[in-house]
Formats: sequence, structure tokens, C-alpha cells
Amino acid sequence: MHLSEETVVQAKQTTASEVLVEQVDIAIIGTGFAGLGMAVKLKEAGIANFVILEKAGDVGGTWRDNHYPGCACDVQSHLYSFSFAQNPNWSRMFSPQPEIWAYLRGVADQHGLRPHIRFNNELAEARWDEATSLWQLRSADGRRYAVRVLISGMGGLSRASFPKDIPGLDGFKGRMFHSQQWEHDFDFAGKRVAVIGTGASAIQFVPQLQKKAARVDLYQRTPPWVMPKPDRAISGFEHQLFKALPFTQSLFRAGIYAMLEARVLGFAVNPKLMKLIETVARKHINKYIKDPVLRRKLTPDYTIGCKRVLVSNDYYPALAQANVDVLTDGIREVRAHSVVDQTGAEREVDAIIFGTGFAAADPIPTGLIFGKGGTDLLDAWKDGPEAYKGTTVAGFPNLFLIVGPNTGLGHSSMVYMIESQVAYVLDALRQMKARGTRVLEVKPQAQAEFNAALQKKAVGAIWSVGGCKSWYLHPKTGKNVTLWPGATWQFRRQLARFDAQAYQIES
Ligand code: NAP
Repeated sequence: MHLSEETVVQAKQTTASEVLVEQVDIAIIGTGFAGLGMAVKLKEAGIANFVILEKAGDVGGTWRDNHYPGCACDVQSHLYSFSFAQNPNWSRMFSPQPEIWAYLRGVADQHGLRPHIRFNNELAEARWDEATSLWQLRSADGRRYAVRVLISGMGGLSRASFPKDIPGLDGFKGRMFHSQQWEHDFDFAGKRVAVIGTGASAIQFVPQLQKKAARVDLYQRTPPWVMPKPDRAISGFEHQLFKALPFTQSLFRAGIYAMLEARVLGFAVNPKLMKLIETVARKHINKYIKDPVLRRKLTPDYTIGCKRVLVSNDYYPALAQANVDVLTDGIREVRAHSVVDQTGAEREVDAIIFGTGFAAADPIPTGLIFGKGGTDLLDAWKDGPEAYKGTTVAGFPNLFLIVGPNTGLGHSSMVYMIESQVAYVLDALRQMKARGTRVLEVKPQAQAEFNAALQKKAVGAIWSVGGCKSWYLHPKTGKNVTLWPGATWQFRRQLARFDAQAYQIES
């Protein structure tokens, strides 16, 4: 492959059959942490012949799309940010969404990424063309791109998931939206609101709703474990210190990393250790919830860590208020102005909000990516998503997935995983250039062996043995297809070098 070294994008643009054809070496999909992180490192390596396709009009990925009231990161900001773009100005330990989104916009600006980005260009199809050994891309508005290498930064949690099992939703006459598509023009003051779901998103917006709404009916299917959130404002002194002596911020970051990483012992090595953490979580419930009936409803019956461990200081206090009802009987149907539970109790509401999460087990939709022989990636993944080192897939040459299968985390920062993958892809591109490689494809055997070892480890981890049902496990096979079942440094070590011997390479 011939990666050109221009410092600006010199995309060749021609008009063919009234569609724009842009030929570049590399296309990245998405401008969240994954897409932007990859782009920064490409530029640093002197690789400038790339475009980034972005479905929206601005950068930011999940931190642009999720803007519900109370939205914040549940991982400490000093770790949930790029190692190469540390921000001394984080306002809190766990910064709110507007600040994280602004940080990502800043990264795009400071690194001159915007000229590479094709905004409002949602990928409609990516098809591997065996004759030319190029990926042929088509965006939703009909633009076409031909690229040698395709890098997905689409993330695993971008497709909103709605309940499929509740009759009558279509006939509801009030306001109804998903947490990811928050309609800020709807004023909750004095309204009766039903919330479906009690996951990471809901526990952040429910306390905000509780303050304004006349009534919040919280439909809970499974209670989450919620830990105290060690949040606080970052002081002016700390800001000054981090600016004057950047190594102090690096030390702070390393301390957070070590603290979070220690938790992997309970999650993946010896799940029995999670019982210790559970004691803290039980105390947290008991501190705020005095009503024994509500306490029982809110206390999970599975081991902590089996589902994502949530952190909040205002969730339980909000649920203890008189205008919130936690409803656990399940929803039978929705009518024009009400929700009816499985006991037949009908409650009138003005709005329904879905805090029902994302299609995480199948993060890439069917009909989007077609590899060798026209195979849809989803058909190759009939038994659940699977990749080599979470990044490459047999039958899909020159395709790299950042935040691919089994790269998610239950215990630390995804940005660390993203940077590990970015380094691997960059090394692959360097080696492709050095060897004059046109096509590389992971060997099926390398992929199978990698996943056999991964699954062997995963079956003993808390997500499989904790006694819960979660989206971490594939609905059909029960296999862990989302999370990395080990320490993050182990992942980084495995991806430290591009291992050409695991690949079929065509020069
Ligand atoms: P989620 O954690 O998957 O929670 C979805 C909730 O909806 C669960 O309580 C689930 O119940 C419920 N639910 C789903 N389908 C339902 C149905 N048909 N009927 C009734 N209840 C239903 O989704 P999320 O809260 O949007 O969070 C998703 C992920 O996004 C998180 O795990 C996390 O990785 C990420 N996130 C991160 C942050 C952050 O601060 N970093 C914040 C928000 C989200 P069950 O538990 O019974 O399935």
C-alpha cells in the first residue's frame, strides 16, 4: 500500500454519474474518542491522506449524542481522556457531558482534524471490492469513496434500543423519547412521567426529573447495584498545579488508573472478592432508603459487577422522595394516555422516557459492511461478534474495528482501550507501508485461537457467573461478546505490536 505523506488532505475528487468519488488511502468512520484518537495519531505519524465520515454536523460521538439532563461520565475525567491530550481544567472528578463534548471539539481543532472530516455523511454501505482491493463506501446522501483501509470508530453503544415487548407504544399520545434523543423543549415541570429502565443513563436523569416533575413512575425490571460516587470539584489550586507541573496530573491519572485496575481482581480473577464491594453498596442503599419495601425492591439479587456497577450520590435520595414510585411488576401495555402494569394497575402519564440502553450485542447493523464474497459482517457474526484482538475479522480485509468485540470494560476507562487499539492499527499501517502491502487479512485460525482463549477466561468472570442477565452476553449464545475479561494492561501488551504472522498478506 502506498500511504502518501502530504500534510494536507489531497483527496482526488471526480464526478462520476453525478456522485462524488473521493479516493483516499484511509477512511475512519465516526468522530468520537475512537475516530478522533485514530486521526490524531495518523497525523502525528505523517499520514495525512485520510477522511473521516461523520453522520452528524459536529464531532463528539456518544458525548455529542447523549445530552440528557444529568449526563456525565461515570469514569474519572483525568483517566477518561486522551493520554496525549490531558486537560488540566476538568471542573470535577466526574465531568459533565458538555465539558467532555467541548474537550473532544477542542482535540479536533487543536490537531487540525476538521479538514479531514466529511460532516453529515452517514455511512450507508461499505463493500470490499476484490477486483481493486479497495473498500467502496457509500454515504446516506449518495457520496462515494474508494479507500484502501477502513477503520471503524462507530462504537458499541450508539444504536438506541427500544422495548419490543410492550404492546400499544405506537398509540401513546403524550411525549415519548429515548434518553439518547432527549427532547429538551419538553418542560417536565408539573408533568407525570414514566421512565422505563434503571441503567447507567436512567440513574443520571431520574434525579433531575424528580426535582421538576409532578410524579415519576420508574419501571424497573432489574435493580442495578449503585455505589457512592467519589465526585468533587477540582480546586483552583489543583488546576494551577496541573498547568504548572504537568507531571503532577500524569501522576494523578496513574493513581486513578491503578485504583480502578485493582478492581479487575474481583471482576475477572476471583469473583468472590466482589462480595466485599457489595457490602459498601448495601450500606449505600440503607443510608438513603428507609422504607423496607422500597429497600427490598432496590436491592439486587445477583452479585455486584455482573451488570455494570453504577455510581451516584443522588439516585437513592431521589427515589426516596414522595413523587417517585418504583414499579417492579412489569408493563403489560401502553394506552393513549397511560401505562398499565402486569397487575392491571393503570397510571396516567404525560410522557414516557426510555432509559432502555443500546443494541450493544450487535453494535453494527445488518446491511452495512460487506467483506469478501459480499458477506455481511452480521452474517459472519451469526453466533455473536468476534474479532482478532477486538480489531480485525477474517473475511474482511483491510478493516480495523476500534471498540470492536470484547474491548469493552466494566472496571476502567474505554479511552485506555481505544488508545491501545489505535497504536496497533498505526503499527499495522506502518508495516503495510514498509512492506508495500495491498491487502492484509487476519487468518481464521489466529482469530479462532484468540477467541477460544478469551472465552475460556470469560466463563469464569463475574459477568458470566454473577447470576444476572445482561447485554454483555450475547442473547443467542450467552457468550461474552462485549467485555475484555482481563486487565487493561494485558490488552495493551497484546496489541503493542502489529503481529504480521497472524495475517495473510498480499503485496
Ligand atoms: P443499560 O445500562 O443497558 O440499561 C437499560 C435499562 O433498561 C436496564 O435497566 C434494563 O433492564 C432496562 N430495559 C431494557 N429493555 C427493557 C424492556 N424491554 N423493558 C423493561 N426494561 C428494559 O442502558 P443505559 O443506561 O443507556 O447504559 C448503557 C451503557 O452506556 C452503560 O452500560 C454504559 O456502558 C454506557 N453509559 C455510560 C455512562 C457513563 O457515565 N460513562 C452513562 C450512561 C451510559 P434490565 O437490567 O432488566 O435489562
